[in-house]
Amino acid sequence: MPAWPRTPEAPRNVTLLTALAARQPARSAAPEITSRERPVLRERGQREVFCGLTSIVWLHRKIQDAFFLVVGSRTCAHLLQSAAGVMIFAEPRFATAIMEERDLAGMADANAELDRIVDELLQRRPDIKTLFLVGSCPSEVIKLDLGRAAHRLSTRYAPRLRIVSYSGSGIETTFTQGEDACLAALAAEAPAAPADASPSLLVVGSLPDIVEDQFARLFEALGVPVAFFPARRSDRIPAIGPSTRVLLAQPFLGETLSRLQSRGATWLPAAFPFGAEGTTDWLRAAAEAWGVAPARFQACVAPGRARAERALARHRALLAGKSVFFFPDSQLEPSLARFLTRELGMRALEVGTPYLHRDITAPELAQLAPETVLSEGQDVDLQLARCRSLRPDLTVCGLGLANPLEAEGLATKWSIELVFSPVHGFDQAGDLAGLFARPLKRRELLGAAA
Ligand code: SF4
Repeated sequence: MPAWPRTPEAPRNVTLLTALAARQPARSAAPEITSRERPVLRERGQREVFCGLTSIVWLHRKIQDAFFLVVGSRTCAHLLQSAAGVMIFAEPRFATAIMEERDLAGMADANAELDRIVDELLQRRPDIKTLFLVGSCPSEVIKLDLGRAAHRLSTRYAPRLRIVSYSGSGIETTFTQGEDACLAALAAEAPAAPADASPSLLVVGSLPDIVEDQFARLFEALGVPVAFFPARRSDRIPAIGPSTRVLLAQPFLGETLSRLQSRGATWLPAAFPFGAEGTTDWLRAAAEAWGVAPARFQACVAPGRARAERALARHRALLAGKSVFFFPDSQLEPSLARFLTRELGMRALEVGTPYLHRDITAPELAQLAPETVLSEGQDVDLQLARCRSLRPDLTVCGLGLANPLEAEGLATKWSIELVFSPVHGFDQAGDLAGLFARPLKRRELLGAAA
């Protein structure tokens, strides 16, 4: 981890900071620059992000017959419990096998303990069809090989259930990488598509069921055969092969994409389906791959696009001209910055992202204003200093930074909310804009009441 190549640390770029301070308007007359030409401010220092275990919160809701067993510490258990907020009398589909000091000190056979816990779990929960063994910082520190454990347990329980391992550790990762690691592991389990299979579309990235249903209806109207990955039931993993065309629903799935491409799948590059323009571009990538006639495409997408544009117009009056600063957190930042600047007229001052997937986000990066600073990685004190000096109208950041910045008079948006909420597609465009408008409205109301 991570699967994509890291760029070497670069010296802090004072020139970029000076340019940032100039606060140019978002829609510049300057020509667009390609994602390769755009300079990136790279920082390595203290980071303020959640770890990959957090993604279990939405993955366990999506894959409805799976169970996520974290092999970790009490800290990991507390993180999951507080993030997911499950009541103790419910039957959750995640748990933590807590490693005690004896395990960490190597005084107990951690593999035997794990086997015993899995046996107990599966006796109690015969409904589980896929068991994910999820690694954590402590399991990685003591080098507990969960891949081998998954293999050993699979031979015992096959074909009743599938056992897969991946890492959700917070060592050098951010929380959306948990989904990437999970889906990459699941993709390796997919059956091979027959060589003579007809082309089919695979939408990759967990989406709320309601959003998945909306997209399924649109693809059906376009005549594009589609499957979604992950599926709601883990026994419905679609077959993968040269006939598979991949459309990513999330920009943080670099490892999963590599795994699918290694199985012969072809990726369809596109902007991500946030807002009216983003969703249209995303659907168009599939329509073009299937040779859908432009008139049919227009007829299918026009009603949804019109609804999205009407919904966005309600928020544009408040958001247009306002500046926004993204701290690196969810890896959605370049896509959301494209949405806010292109579709709502905001000005992106800095777009920070934990890791920059240049190829995957190229269609979005090409649409960002040249003066927007793009930063990768984090040195939180330096970034806070830039944010404080710029005093953006809206700061998108993690939970840990939001309260201190609010206390300093800055309006903030929790970036994790953007991952937990249904925000993809035409019918969620207004809700997505509303998530950014709400902190500004609240600040206006507080100002009026003061
Ligand atoms: S995996 Fe690591 S970062 Fe995440 S809760 Fe456990 S100890 Fe903390």
